[in-house]
Amino acid sequence: MRHVVTGGAGFIGSHLIDRLMSTGANKVVCIDNLQTGSKKNIEKWLGNPRFELVEHDVREPFHVEADQVWHLACPASPEQYQKDPIGTAETCFLGTLNTLSIAHRCKARLLFTSTSEIYGDPLVSPQQEGYLGNVNCTGPRACYDEGKRIAETLVFDHARMHGTSVAVARIFNTYGPRMSSSDGRVVTNFISQAIQGKPLTMYGDGLQTRSFCYCSDLVEGLVALMNSGHKGPMNLGNPDEITIRRLARIIRDLVNTQAGLTNKAKPEDDPQRRKPDITVARKMLEWQPVISLENGLKETIADIKAQLETKQVLTKVS
Ligand code: UDP
Repeated sequence: MRHVVTGGAGFIGSHLIDRLMSTGANKVVCIDNLQTGSKKNIEKWLGNPRFELVEHDVREPFHVEADQVWHLACPASPEQYQKDPIGTAETCFLGTLNTLSIAHRCKARLLFTSTSEIYGDPLVSPQQEGYLGNVNCTGPRACYDEGKRIAETLVFDHARMHGTSVAVARIFNTYGPRMSSSDGRVVTNFISQAIQGKPLTMYGDGLQTRSFCYCSDLVEGLVALMNSGHKGPMNLGNPDEITIRRLARIIRDLVNTQAGLTNKAKPEDDPQRRKPDITVARKMLEWQPVISLENGLKETIADIKAQLETKQVLTKVS
């Protein structure tokens, strides 16, 4: 089986590649422009005859043979995707169109990784797939939220117009090793700050909620969806909802630090509540997350410690 993974050098993409390569018979082509991904995430596969890295921006057309296409390429952290919002919107639209063309030409099945952001700042909780969302189309998050929404549209129209085999996963907040310590998201910010004994930056009153899924759980869900006959859209995430304030407390306890909290303004359009309803995935894929937040955070803390130590060594050398 030949797999193409766009965004394969990213956080989730690289864990997916590990999973695909682990079966021994698969070939994997990773397409990544290394905008937010890193060669380090996939370095153990470089030189393996079953693996190829193609440094390419999916906004430009490309050609590659595939049996299954996993389309993940896109910056996903709010801080990262807002750095070049037009670029993010282009990646969502052009990147998805170009990747769909490959799947169609190869008669491959394509799995598109959409996001809980398509629900915007939801007025209902938990969010079911049938909820149409509450997105501000002119706000700073729109490049990503609306980008992913139009990308879902392209995926479904490709299936209707050309018969392309597709699946759409709506990924909720996911965390784990290989998230960059400087990507700006809450888990990585809090852990990096706690390790360095700095106050944890809480945006707003910290009563907004998220539901955090460990990366290996998410990857199992993606694989199950790809290998099912289902189109989706299907929520994939961990339904255990916690406040950001509570997350800060848990991370401070696990890192064992006295670091305090510092308040910062809540970003515009920051969703107040986010919790996936995963009834569909449970029923259709017999899938559900199994890793506890505490165990997942322990792994993530160890990884971020290692990242920060490497940075320190590099700073000393230079
Ligand atoms: N957040 C925070 N401190 C930080 C980073 C984020 O309080 O240093 C909050 C942010 O306002 C949001 C939640 O944590 O309510 C999750 O933010 P993140 O950027 O991780 O991802 P999102 O779920 O918003 O895409």
